[in-house]
Amino acid sequence: MFDDLSKKFANQYVNLAAVEVDRYIPFVGERTISALKWIAEPLHEKVWANVNSTCVGGGVAEMLQSIVPFAKGLGVDCRWFVIEGTSDFFTVTKKFHNLLQGVEQSISLDEIFHAYLETVSQNVETTKVVGNMVTIHDPQPAAAVMSGNIYGHVLWRCHIDTSQANLRIWRFLLPYINHFDGAIFTCPEFIRSELQIPTYEINPCIDPLRAKNHRYSRAEALGVLGDLFHQHNVDPDRPIFTAISRYDVHKNQQGVIEAFKRLRDRVVPRHKPLLILVGNYATDDPEGSEMYEQVRGWVDGDPDIHAWVNVPNNDQVVGALMALARAFVHVATREGFGLVVSEAMWQGTPVIGSNVGGIRKQVVNGQTGYIVHPTDVDRIALRMKSLLENDAEREAMSAAAVEQVRQHFLLPHLVRKHLLLMRYYLEIDNRVPDFRINDLTFSEIKAALYGRTMWPISSDQLKRRIETIWNGLRRR
Ligand code: UDP
Repeated sequence: MFDDLSKKFANQYVNLAAVEVDRYIPFVGERTISALKWIAEPLHEKVWANVNSTCVGGGVAEMLQSIVPFAKGLGVDCRWFVIEGTSDFFTVTKKFHNLLQGVEQSISLDEIFHAYLETVSQNVETTKVVGNMVTIHDPQPAAAVMSGNIYGHVLWRCHIDTSQANLRIWRFLLPYINHFDGAIFTCPEFIRSELQIPTYEINPCIDPLRAKNHRYSRAEALGVLGDLFHQHNVDPDRPIFTAISRYDVHKNQQGVIEAFKRLRDRVVPRHKPLLILVGNYATDDPEGSEMYEQVRGWVDGDPDIHAWVNVPNNDQVVGALMALARAFVHVATREGFGLVVSEAMWQGTPVIGSNVGGIRKQVVNGQTGYIVHPTDVDRIALRMKSLLENDAEREAMSAAAVEQVRQHFLLPHLVRKHLLLMRYYLEIDNRVPDFRINDLTFSEIKAALYGRTMWPISSDQLKRRIETIWNGLRRR
């Protein structure tokens, strides 16, 4: 049945081959991989479908390119569908993204109803997504959940920081979100109280087998970067700071440039550093090119600052630059997670990261880098100076950074949690996963009362949970 349906929309189906999961043993150990095989055993040939809005650019596409082959390597029939949209659609969903991250922007009803809802409807008219578990990523395809054309246990994976979400857009999306069977967030603090569905916490991850995450020695890195450095007249013997991300208002490239200029004024000539910014555009991000022009304006022809866009040989260049850098700077003003932070730490490069969203989860202040306020340009410059001048500090942080990523942010850890969710929703396991965030929801209790529990529950437990919910409701 699943195959017949997927053929109908093959143009939107990203087909990726399975990877041999034992190749991950050197990174996470044999026990982790064996445990994963055991978890996946009853899920063989079960379908886990993923839906998002772009297959290139940005962290979601980056992760799906690895999640799909890895899950397939474990025997799960993992699929990836990309919805299609016009430029109007991506303009309005970019506004959703900004508004959900707390940036004020005007948005009209016409945009919401025509550009957004009609595009989603058109996609699901021609596209049926069927899976034992279906994960819908971010707001772009979220409204599809009410189309009647998505079949399975459907979960919303929110990759953005919704803690300060603009209320108008949040309230518009809320009925859709509450229609899902569950929602996955990166940090518990992103969850808002109006959610009436089960919520789960899962960290994004990086894939150590990707060219970008090969751990480059200095010689290898210089080999990869040779042509680019030659072309842009970069002296590799000067200490390099780097910042890599989409060109986007939240990524705060302006703060990085400003901090770098202050740093440069404070260091002795033998330490004269360089700043290299690298960025790209995602196909679902119409603001990228405009933002890049702004960044070039801030650089203002400064010979010590380079701002590159859509670099050739992207993955190797990104990994090599991160490996070569004295420190990686990621001082976003809002950030769901920021894969670049883990990528840089995996290369053994300390990260100066802002105290927002998922960055706080990755950077351990004083151990794997420094946490700063994104607008405290002086403090950012001070931390850059410290990492520039203090070799011993940098070395200790480098080792700790790699270990932090190995333990928490590698691909097998993420897939494990998704498979545990799948087992739970398919009632293979009846215990609530330990990464569940909220207490039982009203609909779960209602289901329990009517005898359709997903797990064994004693009447005492049920009574206590109903009381908790009831007291919570009265407080509101
Ligand atoms: N990236 C890249 N080339 C660039 C800029 C970014 O390959 O020029 C990658 C980066 O390495 C990371 C992803 O794009 O894997 C960005 O993910 P992140 O979570 O940091 O930010 P998002 O774009 O999803 O907000």
